[in-house]
Amino acid sequence: MMRETTVFGPIFSRRLGSSLGINLLPQRGKLCNFDCVYCECGWNKDGREDHTLPTAEDVRMALQSKLEACIAAGTPIDSITFSGDGEPTLNPAFPEIIDLCLKLRDRYYPAAKVSVLSNATRISAPGVFEALCRVDNAILKLDAATDEQAALVNRPVGSYHVEEIVRQLKRFNGNFVLQTLFLRGPGWATEDWVSAWMDRVRELKPREVMVYTIDRETPLSGLGKYTEGEMRALVQPLIDEGYVIQIKG
Ligand code: SF4
Repeated sequence: MMRETTVFGPIFSRRLGSSLGINLLPQRGKLCNFDCVYCECGWNKDGREDHTLPTAEDVRMALQSKLEACIAAGTPIDSITFSGDGEPTLNPAFPEIIDLCLKLRDRYYPAAKVSVLSNATRISAPGVFEALCRVDNAILKLDAATDEQAALVNRPVGSYHVEEIVRQLKRFNGNFVLQTLFLRGPGWATEDWVSAWMDRVRELKPREVMVYTIDRETPLSGLGKYTEGEMRALVQPLIDEGYVIQIKG
């Protein structure tokens, strides 16, 4: 799914309520340093040739006018979520954009929660960790417990080491939401895979875990989804240990 505008919605979601989306990536293309087999934006190689990233000023103008229009129309906004066609922290203005978004949120919809969906690869880039600490919900992806599994599922562009990502994630002291996609395919989501992933969760102790599965066509064919009940059974040991787990079938 490609978003053709920097600010889109609000759309209604059961989990987030009335949610406004912000896409910090090109308006006609995908930009990510992962190339996940399940990505709803398709493979990186099939992305359209648009590499123009919105600037902080572009986002400020688009967000301010959308928020003003929503206020004028009496439209409620419960959440503002950074979730575009790729990895939002690849936008070099990401920290600045988070700050201006928080200011506009405070001015127009002070009760709305600001969330960021990120693949967690750029926590060590200047200002990114600090910006993620300032939002209400940093929702950070960790699909794989080992580099071999990540190569199968996330297909990172460039170097990616789970050990290093886990080290970076520990800096949040558990104040983040860990997000993991469960899917069936040759070589992953076996019992060993889930058990190694649960050990990572225990290492990181996130305040919340979100597990979900595919719900649209995926770039790689032949992938299977889990039912909500199956995912619950897989994560039951963590539930028994007191982890807050949100399961989205
Ligand atoms: S991290 Fe997200 S945007 Fe990037 S390839 Fe994976 S699913 Fe797509």
